[in-house]
Amino acid sequence: MRLSFLKSSRVKVFLVNVFILSIVVFFTFFFRYQIIKYSQTRVLLGTFVRIHICATRLDEKAVLSAFDKVWKRLNEINERMNVYNEKSDIARINRSYPNPVKVHPDVYRILAFSKKYSELTHGAFDVTIWPLVVLWKEAQAKQEIPSVQEIKRTLEAIGSDKIKLLADDSVQLMHPQTRIDLSAIGQGYAADEVALILRKEGMNSFLVDTGGEIFAQGFNESGRPWSVGIKDPLHPEEMMDVVRLSDGGVSTSGDYEKYYEIDQKKYSHIIDPATGYPVNNVVSATVIGENATQADAFSTVLCVLGKQGISLVEALSQEAAIVVMEESPAGSISFYKNDAYQRMSR
Ligand code: AMP
Ligand code: MG
Repeated sequence: MRLSFLKSSRVKVFLVNVFILSIVVFFTFFFRYQIIKYSQTRVLLGTFVRIHICATRLDEKAVLSAFDKVWKRLNEINERMNVYNEKSDIARINRSYPNPVKVHPDVYRILAFSKKYSELTHGAFDVTIWPLVVLWKEAQAKQEIPSVQEIKRTLEAIGSDKIKLLADDSVQLMHPQTRIDLSAIGQGYAADEVALILRKEGMNSFLVDTGGEIFAQGFNESGRPWSVGIKDPLHPEEMMDVVRLSDGGVSTSGDYEKYYEIDQKKYSHIIDPATGYPVNNVVSATVIGENATQADAFSTVLCVLGKQGISLVEALSQEAAIVVMEESPAGSISFYKNDAYQRMSR
């Protein structure tokens, strides 16, 4: 009797120990292999840049080192492309006429993309728009619309054919007043470059947001594709759609956050290179595509071309797109979405 009691109490102790041990093993395993979302934010490229990486605690060291590499790379891109930084490659090009100037391959590559997008969109996308941007900025300061002559004169310096890409990463401006501004494509390019680094560092799941331009790959901390909210341009604090993304870029352009105000009237910061005037009936445009550089360029293009641009963008790259337009004369708002967008935002 006594012996069997002892035996059974030993069994009980053994079972309790096994139970405790399995709980410890389970939680240790869970703790180490649980997917965590690591996030960092910096003010860069004139905006808030947010990066999220999903990985286990075992990968924490690699994640933190990847963040360091990404911020270093973004600082370099920012220094090379910032039109306001006198030492940037863009500022050097802008004061180089008539001489060729050697630039970093980053800048050369993005100018090659820009020229290509300009050709593909029959000039609607144009990084030589800067003299017009300056003209409209000055108009805002003076509170006076530029004259037709001023616009006509400024237009003479605009056109991607005014940028000549020479061998050996050199760039030459072909008109004394031509100036370059990469605002419509630089953030998308930066998001794609971050994605390249993260992949190289072994990261599979991440979301890069360079201020409205997004690239997402893999899954969020719940193991689902990343959700990207598309802002409602009429109520920017609310989302009008959510798209699920696990390998692609999204970009939204619009005049609800950035605009010129002259004589109490709002003018878009996106300018139609064909006329020299700010676009006036597109409220916002979103493009979802295979990378953020292209999505960034095309969302700006859709602001210039409006709903007619959707078929062009579709034919060029089968991207998903939505254009929100203010229809005149009634001023009513219409939403134009292609099939790909409707499928993705369901
Ligand atoms: P995004 O927000 O990407 O649409 O870029 C808009 C910015 O790009 C503007 O603030 C201008 O600096 C510049 N921009 C304006 N119009 C154009 C255009 N038609 N093509 C290229 N860049 C433009
Ligand atoms: Mg853009």
